[in-house]
Amino acid sequence: APLLDVKGVTLQYRTQEHVVTATYRVDFDVSRSDRFILLGPSGCGKSTLLKAVGGYLKPTEGKISLNGRQIVAPGPDRMMVFQEFDQLLPWKTVKENVVFALEASRKLRGAAAREKAADAIAKVGLARFADSYPHTLSGGMKQRVAIARGMAMEPDILLMDEPFAALDALTRRKMQDELLALWEGTKFTVLFVTHSIAEAIKVGNRILLLSPHPGRVKARIDDIPYGM
Ligand code: ADP
Ligand code: ADP
Repeated sequence: APLLDVKGVTLQYRTQEHVVTATYRVDFDVSRSDRFILLGPSGCGKSTLLKAVGGYLKPTEGKISLNGRQIVAPGPDRMMVFQEFDQLLPWKTVKENVVFALEASRKLRGAAAREKAADAIAKVGLARFADSYPHTLSGGMKQRVAIARGMAMEPDILLMDEPFAALDALTRRKMQDELLALWEGTKFTVLFVTHSIAEAIKVGNRILLLSPHPGRVKARIDDIPYGM
């Protein structure tokens, strides 16, 4: 059975005047250790789909399940990394941000949480900045912290919503390489949203191309060899 199963999912927003259909009857499934990409132009519903997998939005129609259980709310089994640089708690240091996530979710506490956090921060190359506050760091560094926090939680699936879109081109490429290095040899499962074909091909092994017309799936590109 797949890890994540998205079946016939329609997602609509209800505004004062009308109903916006962001996705219409989308189907896909993600297996363990997939780096699954939702690709498509702005407005095609990628972010909305990801938020529904996160448990932040409820499908109008259809079903989303993880490990065979329907998703009804957010949970630490689905950590999310956003595009924005302000997803860290500004009054906590880099290390405290990671420790806080581990403790609040009751994953680890005390010395075990601090050790896990230090290890995750070192893996993204920020050991020297463990005691710095987020707003003293560059955008790229803040994204590294968000990634370290997400991975330290060892979620069943890491949800990434255009994590590098707000970075300059050079930093973006560097971070894509770092991400691949972090994942190499691991069975980490990722659902990754991007509008960039180059990024999709670089970081993904499966790609779902969404049409700008709600929910129409244009193509599936499966089983791209890693490192293509
Ligand atoms: P993408 O991530 O592919 O850019 P989104 O999921 O953000 O697409 O948006 C899909 C559609 O839903 C768009 O037409 C967008 O305008 C609309 N939409 C997104 N969020 C909201 C919202 N909170 N209220 C109303 N419409 C929304
Ligand atoms: P950006 O995201 O601003 O393009 P990077 O995150 O790629 O920058 O950082 C490039 C290098 O510059 C990092 O390896 C880091 O050592 C250094 N650096 C960036 N911001 C800071 C900072 N606030 N303090 C110290 N060094 C920094």
